[in-house]
Amino acid sequence: MAVKSISSWIDQVIKQEEIDKYLIKGEDFIDEIEIYRHLEENQNPDKKRIRDILQKSLAIKRLNPDETAALIQVKDPEMWEEMFTAGLKVKQKVYDNRIVFFAPLYCSNLCVNSCVYCGFRKDNTHEKRRILTMEEVQEETRAVVTEGHKRMIVVFGEHPLSDAEYMAEAIKNIYKVKVPARQGYGEIRRVNVNAAPMSIDELKKLWEAGIGTYQVFQETYHKKMYKEVHPNGLKANYRWRLYALHRAMDAGIDDVAIGALFGLYDWRFEVMGLLYHTIDLERHFGIGPHTISFPRLTPASGSWLSTHSPWKVDDDTFKKLVTILRLAVPYTGLIITARERADLRREVIKVGCTQTDASTKIGIGGYTEALKVLNTLQNTNQDEDAQQFILGDTRRLDDVIRELAEMGMITSFCTAGYRCGRTGDKIMGLLKSCTEGKFCKLNAVLTFKEYLEDYASPETKAIGEKLLEKELAEIRSIPFFKRGKLLENFETYYQRVASGERDVYI
Ligand code: SAM
Ligand code: SF4
Repeated sequence: MAVKSISSWIDQVIKQEEIDKYLIKGEDFIDEIEIYRHLEENQNPDKKRIRDILQKSLAIKRLNPDETAALIQVKDPEMWEEMFTAGLKVKQKVYDNRIVFFAPLYCSNLCVNSCVYCGFRKDNTHEKRRILTMEEVQEETRAVVTEGHKRMIVVFGEHPLSDAEYMAEAIKNIYKVKVPARQGYGEIRRVNVNAAPMSIDELKKLWEAGIGTYQVFQETYHKKMYKEVHPNGLKANYRWRLYALHRAMDAGIDDVAIGALFGLYDWRFEVMGLLYHTIDLERHFGIGPHTISFPRLTPASGSWLSTHSPWKVDDDTFKKLVTILRLAVPYTGLIITARERADLRREVIKVGCTQTDASTKIGIGGYTEALKVLNTLQNTNQDEDAQQFILGDTRRLDDVIRELAEMGMITSFCTAGYRCGRTGDKIMGLLKSCTEGKFCKLNAVLTFKEYLEDYASPETKAIGEKLLEKELAEIRSIPFFKRGKLLENFETYYQRVASGERDVYI
């Protein structure tokens, strides 16, 4: 694309009126003085106060900034143990022992921005640039589906060649793919999007194409740091990004996902920022984010900051910040990605994460390439100059599912909630009352059974079937399921899945 048309495209992306409409008296919802004041006033919180706050989380109520700041300021190791235990309890109450898997699909690394921490930034001349054709999108999807995945998140650099129309086409092409499996067939049933902020009209195009969740990370909520790490380009506009998900809600996308890139600035500030973002979404639309992500800064091609930032978050702090988010926003999904090492992933899944990825390839065309070279999606070498950053865990989906099953956790490929209208405020209400968890338990069992029949290795199938027996016994003993015909219907559905029928859900 000619240089002139790139710059004229850039000029028309940001719609100032689609920022201003959400401001209150000209101000956005990140009040830095207020955040620092909460952190300052809550130093050395006493045990009684922390225990009271934990009771509020356990009642599945969102914490306020003051309470969250108190958790952030806990230093006592004994209190931390209580907080880790409470985090797990909250997760079990809302999400039971389920974990949801997804696969990221990087469609393009063309980018007009200069985020100093990212391998895709426009001035990184080492990066091999590529944008997938729709045939390639389908080919990548086939590779992902063959692994057993049912959910995808598509990821794009910000560029006129990967604009909303391209994204909508990619979504539609992904939904078209169907691949025969051992018994049934495989397909992607939910496509989420991680892409730069767009206008309401553009977001409507994604909605019409069948987007699941729209995810935008603020990276850092701290305005001065934001400016330093986004020196120019469209992404330099802090508020255009801050209200990306408000616009998505207005465009009809009622599942939105927030996140911060931990390691750019003080983690305490970022946790408060994520909370204020949640509160502002609740204030405007009556519902908070569907998920929260907390990627940690990871080495990226040619990025000095990605290895030298003074704000990098160590493993212990990372586990603590995930626990605080679990307690502060009890009903929201928490995502841990393959950026993190396997051992740490295990640890944070224990304190409250609900979604993760596996078999992940983040090079453009990475899945197809891995299949061509090795005939498997396992542990291929990572090409630093063709991907955004380096992954910490490259294990296959089957290995991660088996490990979690050994820990007593059931993998859910359920996407039913969305297709039964259990989204947005409806799903939030169900999550808050812990009712969604019950439907999800049934659908988790049905989709896990599908996976075991269609894709699991013999070792995973053996461990998985044992876990299913335990789950089935539990379902049969819970009074909620005996109401009406729920249990009866479920038993029929389970038999249908076992005999090869697919995409059966409650
Ligand atoms: N280009 C779009 C944007 O910036 O919103 C979406 C895709 S971007 C590839 C997805 C996310 O990757 C970013 O929001 C950022 O948080 C994360 N990211 C970028 N560089 C990273 C790094 N070095 N380590 C870990 N995560 C990184
Ligand atoms: Fe581009 Fe996103 Fe990377 Fe920034 S984070 S350089 S916008 S791909």
